Amino acid sequence: MIICVEDEQNICELEVYTLQSVGMEAEGCASGKELFALLEQHIPELIVLDIMLPDEDGMSILARLRADKRYASIPVIMATAKGSEYDKVKGLDGGADDYIAKPFGMLEMVARIKAVLRRCASQQSAKTDDGLIRRGTLEVHELEHQVRVGGEAVVLTLKEYELLKLLLLHPGIVFSRDKLLNDIWGYEFSGETRTVDVHIRTLRQKLGEAGELIETIRGVGYRMAAEK
Ligand code: CA
Repeated sequence: MIICVEDEQNICELEVYTLQSVGMEAEGCASGKELFALLEQHIPELIVLDIMLPDEDGMSILARLRADKRYASIPVIMATAKGSEYDKVKGLDGGADDYIAKPFGMLEMVARIKAVLRRCASQQSAKTDDGLIRRGTLEVHELEHQVRVGGEAVVLTLKEYELLKLLLLHPGIVFSRDKLLNDIWGYEFSGETRTVDVHIRTLRQKLGEAGELIETIRGVGYRMAAEK
């Protein structure tokens, strides 16, 4: 999910329409107030943030995002009026991941978004020395057996935890239900694959937005979404 913050309704609608037309989920809003209301519902993969907005400008909104641990890791692309070098530099210093000069073409916007998402995925899915596995807003702390989404703790059963960890460490790899049963439950037979489906379902529910990373491969099994 990409959120576009843009007060000019035509542009906002065009941005959202363009992203949806290339297969991305997108939602638009017109102010910081609306953005933070949306963030209460779900953590997006990226925010396209206009600088000139009514009430609160984009720089101030960016500062608030970066100061809040729930939102600090969300990639942000700032949209700034053409020629305004000041805003551009300030935007980068304020912790934006990229900037784009208005008016920009929709294809350029899509290319920038994909580039930032790629960069962030390669930075965030790495496993760190202290046993922390990250994927976007999802964090698995191996030492404490703790899972967090957007900074909020998620309580998993042992099997759900093991399933998540296995999938997370092998992004893009499809695991058949039989394979998961064997690896997680240790079953030698393939009769109870429904057990896997039930656990995946509750795991997805508990993870909320991050649960969408677990993809169903029809007729085969499951995988953690490949890093784009
Ligand atoms: Ca504006």
